[in-house]
Amino acid sequence: MQETLIKNVRPLAGSAVDILVQDERIAAVGPSLTSSAPDAQVIDGDGHLVLPGFADAHTHIDKCTVGLGWYSRRSGRSWAEMIKDGQDYRERPDFDHHVQSSRQARASIAAGTTHLRTFVDIDPSARLKGLEGVLKTREDLAGALTINIVAFAQSGLLVTPGVEKLLEEALQNGADSVGGMDPAYYDRDPVKHLDVIFGLAEKYDKDVDIHFHEVGTLGAFTCELIIERVKTLGWHDRTVISHPNFLGDIEPAYADRLIEELAENRISITSNGPGGSHPNPPVKRLHQAGVACGMGNDGVGDTWNPFNRPDVLNRAYLVAFRNRLSGDDELEIALDLATYGGARVMRAESYGLEVGCYADLVLLPGETHVQTIIERPTERLVLKRGRIVARDGECLV
Ligand SMILES: [Zn+2]
Repeated sequence: MQETLIKNVRPLAGSAVDILVQDERIAAVGPSLTSSAPDAQVIDGDGHLVLPGFADAHTHIDKCTVGLGWYSRRSGRSWAEMIKDGQDYRERPDFDHHVQSSRQARASIAAGTTHLRTFVDIDPSARLKGLEGVLKTREDLAGALTINIVAFAQSGLLVTPGVEKLLEEALQNGADSVGGMDPAYYDRDPVKHLDVIFGLAEKYDKDVDIHFHEVGTLGAFTCELIIERVKTLGWHDRTVISHPNFLGDIEPAYADRLIEELAENRISITSNGPGGSHPNPPVKRLHQAGVACGMGNDGVGDTWNPFNRPDVLNRAYLVAFRNRLSGDDELEIALDLATYGGARVMRAESYGLEVGCYADLVLLPGETHVQTIIERPTERLVLKRGRIVARDGECLV
């Protein structure tokens, strides 16, 4: 039996304890633990905080440009132009979906991410190349990072012929979830779009993640259509709305009603703490209503924008900043989104710091856990299932 004994750590800033890991899972938490295994790995936690591994619940590792030189983005592009730029970039002879997704995934591990949900573009240009590359990355890093894959209609589902068929192939070939995009705004027919997406989910027994940029009452209307389908199919706990920014852009009473319905129907959300003039979903209100909320770094160094980094603590800072979550109790909510909330969104198995959970852990210095969002220390020790996978910003796998 493989054992790891972590001495002197403070779970979520609680009292100092030891953590004993046996066969990938936390076997005991308490003072003065010992290991009986002669070859046990012993880690001196030095009084550091220990948090569950970070959950990046929404990113796009198939689009990462890091390592290929600076990508110059033209300002003022339309949505369609940005989609086309991404497609053209990935046609470069030096762009390899496996290599690029691997670069981002390793940077995520280095920063403490143990669970990641990535969208992967499925369209007539990429076809299944992105999926195949990300599947290889998932295989390479199995045991270091849990990767959940959403087959994603980035170029639209109805407006781009052939995507439905390709999505179906992606679901038959390793994707975990099916992802729609802007059913009304981009695809112009939200009823048909959602019927196709939920139809594929039902046919292949997959989860759903709808990527939103729709704002105002248009987004709210599409949200109502999603709620209808979740009720009809019973897709509770299996449906995510990514970037429900419209909730910050409609009458507060209407937003409250939709939030209650999301909670009742166990529909999850993710946010990236949108910048600029984008409206912002009220994550504190959503969290308090009981909606499973995660956060995501979105595309890291992609062709869309240069801002996103692979560090979930950095994202927690941005989400806290955008939502003015400044009290410790509020920063606690931001940290929940970065850990337990994101894990709930991804339906991660045996996640947490309790006995029986997988030992997916981040050790980092700090007086209290919420402080880490503000200071984002680079000194981090990352364990996946009890094995050290990164130290101080360096991925070791
Ligand atoms: Zn996204």
